[in-house]
Order: sequence, then structure tokens, then C-alpha cells
Amino acid sequence: MFTQPSALRLLTVHAHPDDESSKGAASLARYAAEGVEVMVATMTGGERGSVLNPALDRPEIRSDLARVRRGEMAAAREILGVGQRFLGFTDSGLPGPDEPLPEGCFALRPTAVAAEPLIALIREFRPHVVVTYDETGGYPHPDHVMTHRVAVEAFEAAADPHRCPEAGAPWQPAKLYYHLALSRAWFRTIHDAMTARGVESAMGELLADWPDTPPALAATTRIHCAEYFAVRDAALLAHATQIEPGAGFMAHSRDIEREVWPTEDYHLARSLVETALPESDLFAGLRPGEEHG
Ligand SMILES: [Zn+2]
Repeated sequence: MFTQPSALRLLTVHAHPDDESSKGAASLARYAAEGVEVMVATMTGGERGSVLNPALDRPEIRSDLARVRRGEMAAAREILGVGQRFLGFTDSGLPGPDEPLPEGCFALRPTAVAAEPLIALIREFRPHVVVTYDETGGYPHPDHVMTHRVAVEAFEAAADPHRCPEAGAPWQPAKLYYHLALSRAWFRTIHDAMTARGVESAMGELLADWPDTPPALAATTRIHCAEYFAVRDAALLAHATQIEPGAGFMAHSRDIEREVWPTEDYHLARSLVETALPESDLFAGLRPGEEHG
């Protein structure tokens, strides 16, 4: 018999500050508003990111990016209503095809070692649900791929009393999900809906250049969160060095998005509780009153 949790807890594991606001942020805001305890683990400080907002691309910001991004993260966390921890690794940057990764960066650490701070956080926060990227990282950045490896490792290892015995009592999260955010299907649906309504879409070029990647994992779980898209957008804009207002992700029609794609979608990768697919709740199988296997 599974003991009913008094409060449900959700841990989402990301590579850089701003990833929590661009992938699954409306779900986080919804769950936090509904009383779930939400924690964001940010593996790196985003030190090797670029300033992507031309209005802020100034030498004094570029030279102090790590500190600026910590401030942005603090503002986004407040907007979303969630807790957040930096786990202390150094951004690997996005090297060119023949460039080596910088010494000491997150993606070069052995997975077992890199998982230790996350194992400790899982044992402290005791999440029922953990969310991270799929094995492709969802985006070909070495830190995203590494974040996937570390989160999968920690999901298992946190429950193993022989791993990091000094890092708190073992805890086994019940469910592990992968994000399906920013999928080709999502871009295609929004682009087609805007075009059909005579609204100019900037997504055509991106869709035309979409790499020939294998299809995304199946969406097992769709979270209705359109009422929180405005909160998501505010959190994203709080990462001011990373987002150009009115461009990129900020450019599409929110009304059309709410109408044609009102959910954020996930793939259930592991479950230790019984649940029926498709789901509309990351905590399906864990709510009071539900049967448990
Ligand atoms: Zn990232």
C-alpha cells in the first residue's frame, strides 16, 4: 500500500536558468497555484550563454553574465511561485562541431559524480514526480543531454542506500517524465493556425529548416495550462538577457496558441504507481482516494 502523501511535490530538472521558463513553465505555475510544492533544479549557472536580447548586449552585462542570470532566475522563480536551487555545475557552452568542451564543464563530469547534488536534493525535497529532458536533450546542447543522464541516474540512485549515504535518507520518486516542449508538431500547429487566420507567422523558416530527426516520443500526458501562459511569458521575460521581446518564442499569437494548443505535453518514462494512459495530470495514480498497486 502506497502511503498517501500529505502534500504533492514536483521536481523539474533543467540545464540552465531560463530552461524552466521555456519548457513546462505554465504547468509549474498551475501546479504551484493548486498547492503542489514545486522545485526547479538548475544544473549550471548558464555562465557560457550569450546575451540574446540586443537591448542588453552591453560589455558590462556580458562580463557579469553569471551574476545577472542569477538575478533573472530569482525573478522568474518568484513569478512562477516555485522554489529553485542551483546545483553548482559550470555551463559547457555550445562548442562548434570540432571544438572540444571546456575543461571542468558540466558535460565532461562523470555521470555518477554529477548526479550527487541531485541525489541529495531528491532526498531532501522528496518529490513524487520528477521531470526532465529525453535522451536527446530535446535540444542538441551538451548540458541538456547531460541533464537527462544525471536526472535518470538520480531517480534510481536516490532510493539506493548504498549511494551517497551521507546525503540523507533514501527516497524513491514515483514517476519520471520527459518534456515534449517546442516539438515540431507544436510549431506546425501554431504556424498553420496563424496562417489560416491571415496572421503573419515567423515560424515558417524554422519549420523549413527543421532537422530530419526521429519523431518525438508519444505524448502520454497533456496538462491543460492555457490560463497560465501569461505567467509563463512573464517568467520567460524575466530572463531578460535570454529573450528578445516580440521575437522568437515571444512572437506568436497567444490567443491562437490558447485555442489550438492549450496544453503542455509530457512522456511518462517510468512509473512505480498504476496509472491509465493518456493522463491529464502528472500526479495521476498519486492523488488521495486513488487506488495504488
Ligand atoms: Zn538550456
